[in-house]
Amino acid sequence: MIVMKFGGSSVESAEAIQRVTEIVKSRLDRRPIVVVSAMGKTTNRLLTIADLAVGGQRDEALRELVSLRDFHLRESGMERTVDEHFQELAELVKGLAVLGELTPRSIDAISSFGERLSSLIVTNYFQHHGINAVHVDSRKVIVTDHRHTQAIPLLEQTYAKLVAAIPPLAKQQVVVMGGFIASTENGVTTTLGRGGSDFTASLVGAGVGAEEIQIWTDVDGMLTADPAIIPNAHRVKVISFIEAAELAYFGAKVLHPATVMPAIDGNIPVLILNSRRPQVEGTRIQSATVLSKNVIKSIACKGQVLVLNIRSTRMFMAHGFMRRIFEVFDRNQTSVDMVATSEVSVSLTIDQPERVEAIVAELREFAEVSVDENQAIICIVGENIRHTPGVGARVFNALGGINVRMVSQGASALNLGFVVAGGDLNAAVQALHGEFFADLDPAVFDA
Ligand code: ASP
Repeated sequence: MIVMKFGGSSVESAEAIQRVTEIVKSRLDRRPIVVVSAMGKTTNRLLTIADLAVGGQRDEALRELVSLRDFHLRESGMERTVDEHFQELAELVKGLAVLGELTPRSIDAISSFGERLSSLIVTNYFQHHGINAVHVDSRKVIVTDHRHTQAIPLLEQTYAKLVAAIPPLAKQQVVVMGGFIASTENGVTTTLGRGGSDFTASLVGAGVGAEEIQIWTDVDGMLTADPAIIPNAHRVKVISFIEAAELAYFGAKVLHPATVMPAIDGNIPVLILNSRRPQVEGTRIQSATVLSKNVIKSIACKGQVLVLNIRSTRMFMAHGFMRRIFEVFDRNQTSVDMVATSEVSVSLTIDQPERVEAIVAELREFAEVSVDENQAIICIVGENIRHTPGVGARVFNALGGINVRMVSQGASALNLGFVVAGGDLNAAVQALHGEFFADLDPAVFDA
């Protein structure tokens, strides 16, 4: 068995679903289990509708809902199914408009419709185009806790349900499931967090002991750098799990980091593939280390980052200082990406600006704080970094006159991260790409 996950853009229209059908047909001998995202931008649109409804714009919300229904109808032709789901959605939206309040539980109720529908639509399409397909409602087999919108799967129960339900069906049929959606033990709908369909694929793969998990998307795989900055970035053919996870945290949007966990545990390779160019071999992510002649595998970066410089007002790091700092971020549910410390100060980066004012106000109760806006994180990643002397020298040499404002070498020693001003981001990535990828190891990169 293999798991094949298709992201939103891979199922965004009838035409895209046709491509998916051909791809799945060409792999029937491997007994695929198909996991799909919501069609195109459906999840975003559902969340907007929910916001409109509670924000006093009920009619606008309902208009948007009609347009989303028309889209699903046009691309699927499944009048009854689509109507049934949108009637239920309309009831929900009207309820929200009355309540004027959006709870995480109702966000999940609404956002689940994207995958509930797309999985039925893809199943139906398969059935009408020569694939013996069967739909399984993910909410019946993926069990989570109650943390709505970010629910954590209960692995033991989930795996038990998956093993009981899926392999018997997959013997004769292509199982189709929605990603992202799940339910609590009591059957209340939950979701696994934005981008969570990869996580579903990984859970299903680990649960049934699949030989491979394929993540079909709209790029050729992981690249040596963001193609928006390096148009001729090279495809990375093979990379280790820990490298891929490191890259995912720092901006490479190809993979949801949590995807990696169940797959690592099950020692199942994950392939990133392009549904528009299925002939490209993609990127293989595996648990074994992949050493290459190139020291690094890729350069990840993330713009629009804020740097907070926090200085103890007591002129030395009183004990408990760090704890107090991180408690502030915890209370404000803001995650910190990179941290650097000196004797009297701590610099850290965040990429969620929503709570920054509250955070700064709380920090100022015991520290001096300054905020640098429009900064960028660059992170080079490769297991060889820890085995190779002189990487830092090469980095700083390549960066030449560019001012580096913060440096952090991960404890794992497989990444080296630093912060530059937003305006220096492109030049810095170009310089590093030239330095580390001038000469490519053909076993690891596609030249
Ligand atoms: N549809 C969900 C989202 O947009 C989950 C996914 O596509 O992975 O976040």
